[in-house]
Amino acid sequence: MSGARPLVIVGGGLAGGLAALALAVRRPEAPFLLLEAGERFGGTHVWSFFDTDLGEDERALVRPLATRHWDDHEVRFPARKRTLAFGYNSLRSADLDRHLRATLPARCYRFGAQVQSLGPDHVVLEGGERIEAAAVIDARGPAAMPGLELAWQKFVGRTYRFEAPHGRERPAIMDACVDQDGGYRFFYALPFGETELMVEDTYYSASPVLDVPLVRGRVGNYLRCGGLYPAELLDEEVGVLPIVLGGECSALWPGVEAPVPRLGLRGGFFHPTTGYSLPDAVRNALLLAAQPSMSPEALYALFHARAERLWGERRFYRRLNRMLFHAADPPLRYRVLEHFYRLPETVIARFFAGRSTAFDKLRILSGRPPLPVRRALGAFRELRP
Ligand SMILES: Cc1cc2nc3c(=O)[nH]c(=O)nc-3n(C[C@H](O)[C@H](O)[C@H](O)COP(=O)(O)OP(=O)(O)OC[C@H]3O[C@@H](n4cnc5c(N)ncnc54)[C@H](O)[C@@H]3O)c2cc1C
Repeated sequence: MSGARPLVIVGGGLAGGLAALALAVRRPEAPFLLLEAGERFGGTHVWSFFDTDLGEDERALVRPLATRHWDDHEVRFPARKRTLAFGYNSLRSADLDRHLRATLPARCYRFGAQVQSLGPDHVVLEGGERIEAAAVIDARGPAAMPGLELAWQKFVGRTYRFEAPHGRERPAIMDACVDQDGGYRFFYALPFGETELMVEDTYYSASPVLDVPLVRGRVGNYLRCGGLYPAELLDEEVGVLPIVLGGECSALWPGVEAPVPRLGLRGGFFHPTTGYSLPDAVRNALLLAAQPSMSPEALYALFHARAERLWGERRFYRRLNRMLFHAADPPLRYRVLEHFYRLPETVIARFFAGRSTAFDKLRILSGRPPLPVRRALGAFRELRP
């Protein structure tokens, strides 16, 4: 890059990639440089979100790269099967990669750029190259989170092609009619086409250890039990996402003396219960592009305050996580979700969007609980400040 020092975004994943996209589209005059350690943007992921997670302006940023939209989706539990009439969307990292390469000016990104250290006004790459920056944003994805009480959502997802139509019409967000194997376990299935289906075996677990070969085998068994015999494996994603039960946002942020703002999972921008971060990443990207000042101090103050605010607003979800993990015996945790899915669609949609109202929260906690009441209340209250 020549001329003015650029805003350097470290990490060309979901948050960093969308931030760069928003700058390119909405602030083409603002110099930036996106540094990605790998050879493509976004790694290997399928990122999904509900229609109700994003406003119209927010959707506009990701619409050109959404791989698939469905009008509705379903959930299955032993005692409840339900189709929910609000839409679901998925985008694949390959589409993010394609779109970013087509949209970002070539001078604004670099692959194979492994950042070794960073500060408010510079980064140093592996090999020693130093890049001076107007400001630096750290979007390097998840890091260790000491100081937070965590559980994990872990999964192996495989996308297959079939010789004949697989017969799945809509996404199954949770199919918990399976052996619970020590925690809340469900299958997640996305029918990308008549003969293309992604199936993911997901575990809410106290341990981040994931036996990938074992779970791969279970995905195959699940398909065979449903009478489905894939012809070809197209893709695989493996994830271990943090589910936050307790702790403070400050555990994730560096001090103001070295003002390097963070985006994405590294900055705590994710839903505590699902670990999903796409809606936050979209909103942060648009917010970044709307900033008059891109100094390190201004960006740090903006995103740090935002992370703290969201963290506070999301306390309720961390308490629910505690209830799930501490009050329910592992084989019965699915009942908490089964009970949750009795609620009106609007309440469910706001829950996933992280926008539950006070009345929603009451409704989520009301009804004949599927857990021992005293244990549930104990777990829920433990987090009171
Ligand atoms: C398999 C999987 C599926 C998921 N599905 C969903 C979903 O459906 N919906 C949803 O909202 N969320 C989903 N998530 C959760 C979360 O949204 C994703 O993890 C998301 O990718 C996080 O975005 P991020 O930008 O913080 O990190 P990432 O997308 O992981 O991006 C970090 C980037 O930084 C790069 N990087 C790291 N270190 C350096 C370095 N030193 N120098 C330069 N570059 C570096 C990495 O190569 C990577 O490209 C999923 C997560 C996983 C793992």
